Amino acid sequence: MNRFDVAIIGGGPAGLSCAAALAAAGVKVVLLERKKNIGSKVCAGGITWHGLIRQVPADLIQRTFPEQHIFSNWQRIRFKKPDPIIATVNRKELGRWMMEKAVRSGAEIRTGCYVREIAHRTLTAVNEHCSAFTLSFDQLVGADGSTSLVRRFLGIPAEKIGVGINYQVEGAYEQMEWHLNTSLFGSGYAWIFPHRQSISIGAYATRGTMNPDRLKASLITWAATRGFDVANTPTRAEFINYDFRGYQFGTTWLAGDAAGLASGLTGEGINPAIVSGNEIARKIIDPGHRAESIAGMAAKHRKHAKIVELAARGGLRCTLLTETLVLLLRLKIVDFQQELSM
Ligand SMILES: Cc1cc2nc3c(=O)[nH]c(=O)nc-3n(C[C@H](O)[C@H](O)[C@H](O)COP(=O)(O)OP(=O)(O)OC[C@H]3O[C@@H](n4cnc5c(N)ncnc54)[C@H](O)[C@@H]3O)c2cc1C
Repeated sequence: MNRFDVAIIGGGPAGLSCAAALAAAGVKVVLLERKKNIGSKVCAGGITWHGLIRQVPADLIQRTFPEQHIFSNWQRIRFKKPDPIIATVNRKELGRWMMEKAVRSGAEIRTGCYVREIAHRTLTAVNEHCSAFTLSFDQLVGADGSTSLVRRFLGIPAEKIGVGINYQVEGAYEQMEWHLNTSLFGSGYAWIFPHRQSISIGAYATRGTMNPDRLKASLITWAATRGFDVANTPTRAEFINYDFRGYQFGTTWLAGDAAGLASGLTGEGINPAIVSGNEIARKIIDPGHRAESIAGMAAKHRKHAKIVELAARGGLRCTLLTETLVLLLRLKIVDFQQELSM
């Protein structure tokens, strides 16, 4: 049986950042990812100036947007900053770049390996040839996304869940748009995030307020009004867990979506995943490390979850709350970068 200091389940941004930081410090780490290709995750690929834009190589950036366009039922606003507020990346390219960094640091990455069972300091996985293998570890990091096996192993429920639907269509579009149409998307929203040669058109809503079928139907209807016929484009959808209940549970850790660190309001989760993966690595290396950025994200996250909870009561309350948020953005009382991005 192989033995590792740390086993990480999940090769998304949380797992890869954790693996790179641990390996760079000389920790013997293995990462297991069920998909054959790292990075093939349904996502709009939006990253923020406060988060990742300045940390990734320039050639990974698809498009940059210093200007944001927000449409609500009653208002239409546009705001601009000198630097890009949001940029888009291709998740496969981001994943490849992060994986190369982790491998260069000395991490062992095994793709095509589905972890099906966790026990005390051991796990069993099945590789792409359907052969089962077991390995042992001192510490386990669950970076296995919103339906985390590690979270279930710990017995931690995930009740606050969002649903994101994405259509990646070929073509070009000039501006980045957010559509807070409460009659179609409730407390959620639809987006248009242009990439270099394609456009991400999608919608996000909390599962408790809108079932995924209704969200999909609303998205298709709305997209047609913006001139996009997505009805025959493959639908890609995934859950986004924002039910944060901690990240350290003895020698078992939860990072990124597994920990519920995405924003329940915007669905942003790439940067929280990377930051939490990195902070967990630092805490494994030095248990005295305070991991203040996780605490900071969790505090912002609680505010976002509160807004969602209030808006989720639906009807006029949802519309008034949404319009107030847009008005506060318009009057620059709420700063998009400070308050809304993670
Ligand atoms: C439609 C949509 C659009 C989005 N758009 C944005 C956006 O524009 N910007 C943004 O910041 N966020 C966005 N998000 C959220 C973002 O994608 C996630 O928050 C982010 O990917 C979380 O990273 P993670 O590493 O925690 O988990 P993931 O990226 O989900 O990675 C988890 C990995 O674990 C693997 N795994 C799971 N179970 C097992 C197992 N048993 N064995 C082995 N491997 C396993 C999975 O295959 C996966 O690769 C979007 C989400 C959706 C659904």
